[in-house]
Amino acid sequence: MLQPKIIAIANQKGGVGKTTTAINLSCALGILDQKVLLIDADPQANATSGLGVLTTNLKHSIVNLFQGDEDINQSILETYSPNLKIIPGSIKLAELEINVQNTNVNRLKEALCKLKSEYDYIIIDCSPSLGYLTLNSFVASDSIIIPVQCEFFALDGLSKLLSTIQSVRKSFNSNLDIEGILMTMHDERLRHNNHVINELKKHFNDLIFKTIIKRNVSLSEAPSFGTSVFDYKATCEGSINYLNLSREIMKNQPLDKRNTLGKELHQILKDTNENVAFAPTNKERNLDDYKPFSFKDKNFSKLSGSTKNEIIAQFGLVYNDLHSDMWMYRVSDKISLFKKNYLYLYFEKNKVKHIRLKRFKYS
Ligand code: ADP
Ligand code: MG
Repeated sequence: MLQPKIIAIANQKGGVGKTTTAINLSCALGILDQKVLLIDADPQANATSGLGVLTTNLKHSIVNLFQGDEDINQSILETYSPNLKIIPGSIKLAELEINVQNTNVNRLKEALCKLKSEYDYIIIDCSPSLGYLTLNSFVASDSIIIPVQCEFFALDGLSKLLSTIQSVRKSFNSNLDIEGILMTMHDERLRHNNHVINELKKHFNDLIFKTIIKRNVSLSEAPSFGTSVFDYKATCEGSINYLNLSREIMKNQPLDKRNTLGKELHQILKDTNENVAFAPTNKERNLDDYKPFSFKDKNFSKLSGSTKNEIIAQFGLVYNDLHSDMWMYRVSDKISLFKKNYLYLYFEKNKVKHIRLKRFKYS
């Protein structure tokens, strides 16, 4: 009898590549002859529509699982992708999330127990929250994939997520492990992308997947055609990345042979004063370009109205994602992974429109 491995894809941050990973990892596993069930546990139902399944007029969806319907197999639909079935998402999930009477975190687990045991993998696409739905997914899962975007905010919220995982392990599901941290949307032309990867590797070492998902336009275009990247452009880098990821997951040692999360997590959460963080090394930057400025005596409001070029002239380019209208600089000399002060500059029409200072502390 098949005992499926249940993997949740989670990060309470939106836009980090959860759904893209859920769709394309599920399809890749299917292409590699694994029997896969994808569960769309996000009210936005992007994984469902991204696979070309229409969400309007669906009789059965993931909601039925949460309502304890007897025949969960009714909610399972075929997809165009080989070996892949889906339990579609639904906007009605949002109501479940906010209903205060919903406290049973075992709902999804109980529903999945009733599944015919015909799958090798069950992949759950989680919503960008750590609420009721995600907790249910964690309780039902064997492991979690955490997609993290290769940008300077990569660590934002990560310690909250890790401590949530730790409490689920303690209270509901002692077997829950981290399958891996997946770096997504990597752009090797951007120096700070590489920097973020190196720093995360230092701290999370073998929790990071060897496979890195590159920024690839086909990955972002495919969902609007209702297909995975494999049906959209099988030879592109995105297809290759997700095939490699699925091979890596299939090769992953049984969890009990790997470093267990408990051990690692303890160290990671303790590791708050590491003297490296994301500060660029002197080799990587021209010190004249970029000087950390003191948090106290700088009048940041003067920056209002400055152009991007003026900001670059003052502070350098080190942490900016050139594609975005929100740039961030570290503004204190104290460098610690978990405690930082940041200056956020919001641009509109190439000029600083809004300035925000934030003390950033992982606890
Ligand atoms: P989440 O589910 O975490 O909110 P998504 O998977 O929906 O994140 O991704 C957010 C956006 O980024 C989407 O528009 C998606 O198409 C795009 N995207 C995700 N991964 C990549 C990638 N590797 N390359 C290019 N675009 C990507
Ligand atoms: Mg999503």
